[in-house]
Amino acid sequence: MASMEAYIEEIKDLWDTRWLTNMGDKHRALEAQLLDYLQVPNITLFANGHLGLESIIEALGLKGEVITTPFTFVSTTHAIVRKGLEPVFCDINAVDYTMDADKIESLITDKTSAILPVHVYGHVCQVEQIETIARKYNLKVIYDAAHAFGVKVKGQGIGAFGDASMFSFHATKVFNTIEGGGVTYKDMSLKKKLNDLKNFGITGPESVACVGGNAKMNEFQAAMGICNLRHIDDEIAKRKSVSKRYYDHLEGVEGIRLAKEQEGVDHNYGYMPVVFDGYKMSRDVVFEALKSHEIIPRKYFYPLISRCDCYRDKHQAEATPVALQIAENVLNLPLYADLGLDDVDRICDIIRG
Ligand SMILES: *Cc1c(COP(=O)(O)O)cnc(C)c1O
Repeated sequence: MASMEAYIEEIKDLWDTRWLTNMGDKHRALEAQLLDYLQVPNITLFANGHLGLESIIEALGLKGEVITTPFTFVSTTHAIVRKGLEPVFCDINAVDYTMDADKIESLITDKTSAILPVHVYGHVCQVEQIETIARKYNLKVIYDAAHAFGVKVKGQGIGAFGDASMFSFHATKVFNTIEGGGVTYKDMSLKKKLNDLKNFGITGPESVACVGGNAKMNEFQAAMGICNLRHIDDEIAKRKSVSKRYYDHLEGVEGIRLAKEQEGVDHNYGYMPVVFDGYKMSRDVVFEALKSHEIIPRKYFYPLISRCDCYRDKHQAEATPVALQIAENVLNLPLYADLGLDDVDRICDIIRG
């Protein structure tokens, strides 16, 4: 993260101009820098990633059913439901925990309008197969890329896949604007629609074109992004060395499953998911052991979305058995740029028992 001094320097202008929000200089500058960094043709910034996702669903005019994954943060499913659409859960694969593309076609009905997969933990979805299916059935594809900031596939920015991608810049993510998000997309004509949707549909001093909400990224958020973007490569490099240390300790341990490196992918090391599958301790026992040493890992994602109180009546978790199994056995270990390697050693000692 950028220093406090750098941030204060960056926000000084805001007192000169008194321009605090509504797409000012910082907003425009960050948009330009992110276009470049993410290697995408278009980007629109939002107050947070969730509202970006709701806005792109609306902008694409989706209707009916959306095929998505239950193994994600609730935001993905909530965005579909809050826009009046029906989520249809597709199972995940047991290798990288993204949507199992082989299982998509059997879920398509005449009501399906889109596929909304998640690059979970920054792992790249089966983008080519998903693209082929979407073309065949004329479906839109929106990626929830909240975890995938800076991820590249064969040198290409991950935002280049599908019709659109949503990136989250929440404080807990690899890159942050405190709260914030960005939607990237191919079709330039979406820009106007997204800008209207994030600002009450106001298109001029005396004109309101549509029933938009308020989802603008303000200047303080954008300034934070400008500062943090200067350090992003260093941030990812540090995370990589922390992640490597975990792999040094845990790879090959019987009953412990780690995600494999994806070929041709530059990863962002946002998360350290570990699946306990036949290990001498269950996930919950490992969780308690770490907690007793004041180390708080996260059962991320647990419960599975289809087991959350607001969804369990309408959806069957057993219908996506792989997702259910992973949700019951996964633990995300602490991973951040400044985590000491000796702390990783200590955490792994506890896990190894
Ligand atoms: C963080 C996150 C979101 C929501 O992003 P916000 O910026 O917090 O609104 C959506 N989907 C996933 C998978 C996330 O991790």
